[in-house]
Amino acid sequence: MKIAADLHLHTNFSDGVLPPEELVERAIAIGLKAIAISDHDNIGAIDPAKSAADGKLQIISAVELSSEICGKDLHILGYFIDDKNELLLSEIGKYRKARHDRALKMVENLSRAGMPIDFELIKSISGDGAIGRPHIARAMVIKKYASSTQDAFYRFLRDGSPIYEPKYKIDPFKAFDLIKKAGGISVWAHPGRLELDHKFPEFIEAGLNGVEVFHPGHDWRDQNRYLNLALRYQLIVTGGSDYHGHDFGAQIGDHGIDKDLLQKLNNANVKENHSDN
Ligand code: AMP
Ligand code: MN
Ligand code: MN
Ligand code: MN
Repeated sequence: MKIAADLHLHTNFSDGVLPPEELVERAIAIGLKAIAISDHDNIGAIDPAKSAADGKLQIISAVELSSEICGKDLHILGYFIDDKNELLLSEIGKYRKARHDRALKMVENLSRAGMPIDFELIKSISGDGAIGRPHIARAMVIKKYASSTQDAFYRFLRDGSPIYEPKYKIDPFKAFDLIKKAGGISVWAHPGRLELDHKFPEFIEAGLNGVEVFHPGHDWRDQNRYLNLALRYQLIVTGGSDYHGHDFGAQIGDHGIDKDLLQKLNNANVKENHSDN
């Protein structure tokens, strides 16, 4: 399959490393037709990406919202969202404040465990966007408390460690609603490892429009399962590399959708917007 669009990319507005302009430059260089910037709980990179693309590449505005159901982390992608929508912006504001307060708590936990870190160091790494554990991990490497970010996660930042603090999450039904009200399409991100496939009918009833089939965390069995599910429930098929700007793992353009699926996605956007007036 020749990849025309990579629909899952992170920038330094969340826990990616690259600024949106650089991501756009790379996407153009490898010949992609479209990309979606899908930062965690943040939409600040969309405007700069659109300016940088300057019509040479379609930028699909997106977001990856953190949600929770049955005690499991569920990521909901919103595509074609209006990044000026007041309701969405107000929810993004809540995420931002909660992520900031959570990072402060984790810094306190680290200090208590004999690993003091100046919060300003973390802020200098995260910038103005959504602060996450990867920024704390990078600070821990700088302070030599860990040998790599993976090491920091493995020893200190994983869920269940005494340093860990839970994050603010909304329930997926609220995510579907929010995305719809912001004019977007809801897609269940990388559902492969969650063992929650039985939730599809309920989610579709509540406004889920698509499923992320192509993702580095999915093997061919997952891909087939979700392609079949998409056929059965007439879901939109999406895919992306979940690229965070690192040299390791999937690179930009490694996963995504071909031009026919991109066409379908763009058609779905038009349909959703018209049926909703
Ligand atoms: P947070 O949203 O702050 O809980 O951070 C979660 C993010 O950390 C994920 O989106 C990944 O980008 C990254 N991540 C999760 N687990 C690991 C790991 N073991 N090593 C490196 N990065 C990780
Ligand atoms: Mn991430
Ligand atoms: Mn995710
Ligand atoms: Mn992601």
